[in-house]
Amino acid sequence: MVSKVRTFKSEKGLSQDVGTYRRGELRGVIRINEEVYVGCDTCRGVCPADAIEGSVGEKHKINLDKCVVCGQCLINCPFDAVEQMSFVEDVLTKLKDKQTKVVAIVAPAVRVAIAEEFGARPGTLALEKLWVALKKAGFEIYDNNFAADQTILEEGTELLARIAAHAGLKELPVYLWGKKRVLEVEEYKHKPLPQFTSCCPAWVRYVELYYPDLIPYLSTCKSPQQMAGADRFLLKHETIDKTLFRWLKPDTNLTKRVRCLNWLKELGYEVGTGCIVGLPGQRIETLVEDLLFFTRN
Ligand code: SF4
Ligand code: SF4
Repeated sequence: MVSKVRTFKSEKGLSQDVGTYRRGELRGVIRINEEVYVGCDTCRGVCPADAIEGSVGEKHKINLDKCVVCGQCLINCPFDAVEQMSFVEDVLTKLKDKQTKVVAIVAPAVRVAIAEEFGARPGTLALEKLWVALKKAGFEIYDNNFAADQTILEEGTELLARIAAHAGLKELPVYLWGKKRVLEVEEYKHKPLPQFTSCCPAWVRYVELYYPDLIPYLSTCKSPQQMAGADRFLLKHETIDKTLFRWLKPDTNLTKRVRCLNWLKELGYEVGTGCIVGLPGQRIETLVEDLLFFTRN
């Protein structure tokens, strides 16, 4: 059987720009239980961020501002002294509330990793058991495999666009969502190569904290979790005046922005847009055109 991960109940709300955390990011998701006083020092050896303080025989402590929440100390501590924040009680409360729809978003690896919890051999695909258990518990289920595939599609397309732009191309024909489309790629010449994935939050935090110079190399795509949770998209068209738009956003153009909005609608997103009022040189006629654009779209 897999060892049980120790947990502690979340007591804090979302952080408010504390240390290296921005508003809305959870702080202290992983901690060392200091009462389990062993000091074997294994965790320091596996921490990629040098975030654990203490040496052999001493109590160890995680420096939260340096921690990237990768979970390596959690899975490697031989004495189960590392714990993770749990929201199980909050979820159980939500499940009891019949007015609340509770959605389980199942990551691809879980369908195998959970097998031992059902008494199966390690490595067994336990998809059906998992689905039935979640349904019985009252969850709606969303399979994150789809969002993971979408992430690959989006990141792969961005990589092609960067390569094409660096090769001097202005446009790139691609098949996206079952249709042939032409991407304008010129703006990607400002984005460097190689391109790194942005799909893992721990990896992104690692780059942000320790190698900020590499941030432009990260893909601009969201993580699979964020893609899975998206059903609305807010993208301002800024202004319907092409000249003003070019002045505001020299890297792109209005035609492309409007095309993005149309594609999002085509994909089934609830789309919102908006314009800026009070731009230098903005005419009242342009604002009227902005309003008409809202009604047309
Ligand atoms: S690996 Fe576990 S027991 Fe060993 S020092 Fe780290 S937290 Fe303590
Ligand atoms: S979660 Fe990762 S980064 Fe944080 S202390 Fe543990 S090993 Fe280090």
